[in-house]
Amino acid sequence: MSTTLITGGTVVTSTGRSEADVLIDGETIAAVLAPGSTLLGHDLARSVDTVLDAAGKYVIPGGIDAHTHMQMPFGGTEASDTFETGTRAAAWGGTTTIVDFAIQRYGERVMDGLAAWHEKAAGECAVDYGFHQIVGDVNDDSLKAMAGLIDEGVSSYKLFMAYPGVFYSDDAQIYKAMRVGAETGLMTMMHAENGPAIDAMVTELLAQGKTDPYYHGVARAWQMEEEATHRAIMLANLTGAPLYVVHVSAKQAVEQLAAARDNGQNVFGETCPQYLYMSLEDQLGAEGFEGAKYVCSTPLRSKHEHHQDHMWQSLRTNDIQMVATDHCPFCMKGQKDLGVGDFSKIPNGIGSVEHRLDLMYQGVVDGKITLERWVEITSTTPARMFGMYGTKGVIAPGADADVVIYDPAGHTSIGLDKTHHMNMDYSAWEGYEIDGHVDTVLSRGRVLINDNEYLGTRGTAATSIVPRASI
Ligand SMILES: [Zn+2]
Repeated sequence: MSTTLITGGTVVTSTGRSEADVLIDGETIAAVLAPGSTLLGHDLARSVDTVLDAAGKYVIPGGIDAHTHMQMPFGGTEASDTFETGTRAAAWGGTTTIVDFAIQRYGERVMDGLAAWHEKAAGECAVDYGFHQIVGDVNDDSLKAMAGLIDEGVSSYKLFMAYPGVFYSDDAQIYKAMRVGAETGLMTMMHAENGPAIDAMVTELLAQGKTDPYYHGVARAWQMEEEATHRAIMLANLTGAPLYVVHVSAKQAVEQLAAARDNGQNVFGETCPQYLYMSLEDQLGAEGFEGAKYVCSTPLRSKHEHHQDHMWQSLRTNDIQMVATDHCPFCMKGQKDLGVGDFSKIPNGIGSVEHRLDLMYQGVVDGKITLERWVEITSTTPARMFGMYGTKGVIAPGADADVVIYDPAGHTSIGLDKTHHMNMDYSAWEGYEIDGHVDTVLSRGRVLINDNEYLGTRGTAATSIVPRASI
């Protein structure tokens, strides 16, 4: 087993920061030591195999992106990142764990869906991965299978209140599934948008000739997110199921979550970088078909209603607990362009898995969140939420050596011809400038990224993480 010492850096966790050296033995963090510590009189730096100098830099736990969709089938096509390309891009951006979504489609069995996704990912990934289970067909057989998910290393399942005819669950199905969630401790993840009403609006808009990408945002009105969020919270309240609402974008939905939390209910919210930085007018409303690049659901919200500021505020006040990407990339050519002349045919998704840590670090630079909060919302809380805490999400003895050395004096220019490793023909984040840089990335003690070079190999993370069911 090889040993590594990270010296001279500032170790940042969700609760504080300190000058410390980090000793790694094999795949695990062995010790966090006062700078320049010796061991039994020996100079540690001389007795380890590798020394990484982190002077002037932050040493943080590797990012955990708990919402990705690698090679996910959607709208007649498939998300353009494979598990190989997507996890390599994640590594470039300092994310060392992803939790993707295995899918049970209508008419299929839950465990067959899980097995299919294990097959897609096995031997492909550059960083550790796990799965949430999408239950796209809640029936008696699915409900029985859900009870067995924790034994399969899956501590969460997801339902959709949107996409009738695809993943949609009606209220009776949600109620039944949440009963299982309450009994087993499985986390219920919810796509909270009123799909049937949205689909009716889509039909109306298209009939009026309103076919541009902008109308994707008009059809998916914030009222439909607030309403569904409230309904999900009430069904969770009734059944006692823990609830996690994914990709929250409307400030009114946050208010529903905040009220429920103030009331003592076990509910959580996730947002994504696009809802912090982008708007209905500036991106979805871009010239011509350009807006298609930013079509995702829930949609980008109006800047005139200040959802974006409210989302940053919610991260400060803990009304929103974490930031994932909902990474679901599609190319413009051959994929997004399926929706020329009909916004409802544009595959939904933005690619961000590579940029989450940087984009959220810019929030630190801009004074919107603290350094510790940055670590908490990108690593520590996702670890806690999905049963990995202690093994991941911390820099502490016994934890996996998933470590990022981040340079606050560095700079990252995001752009297709600059820093781009996702398998897409455009970057939704083109032109964003970050006052920081991911210098070095270790996954279980292996150096994957150093000095702008990728040192990993396909499938180095051959084992799926198996989150413990400790919600
Ligand atoms: Zn998603």
